[in-house]
Amino acid sequence: MDDLSRFCCLNADCPDYARRDAGNLSVCMRYGQAHQHRLLYCKTCRGRFSDRKGTPLFGARLSPDKLLAVLAHLADGCGVRQTARLVGVGKNTVNRLALRAGRHARQLHDELVGFSPLDHEGPAR
Ligand SMILES: [Zn+2]
Repeated sequence: MDDLSRFCCLNADCPDYARRDAGNLSVCMRYGQAHQHRLLYCKTCRGRFSDRKGTPLFGARLSPDKLLAVLAHLADGCGVRQTARLVGVGKNTVNRLALRAGRHARQLHDELVGFSPLDHEGPAR
């Protein structure tokens, strides 16, 4: 059985958009050379999307190992050039992944910060 509790519908027009573990998703197909990717189906809006859509992994042609190594090095504070050298990939690849991962982190940040209580005192001085 696939655990889909961390996934949510990515169709912004869907009533269940961005609701995790809402019971609306199922796996309708597997794809990729080793059938490692899943195509998810939302029964609310009848939309289909990859389980990697909305993550920095979506559409990346790098092997998952290298890709995670790149992200780990960046998260650890390595620069683009250093990361490229250590992982053995091109600088442009690292740049592209950094931008993508950054956008994803920003979305997650905005989502999580959306639940923070308002600070009526204003910023600390
Ligand atoms: Zn949906």
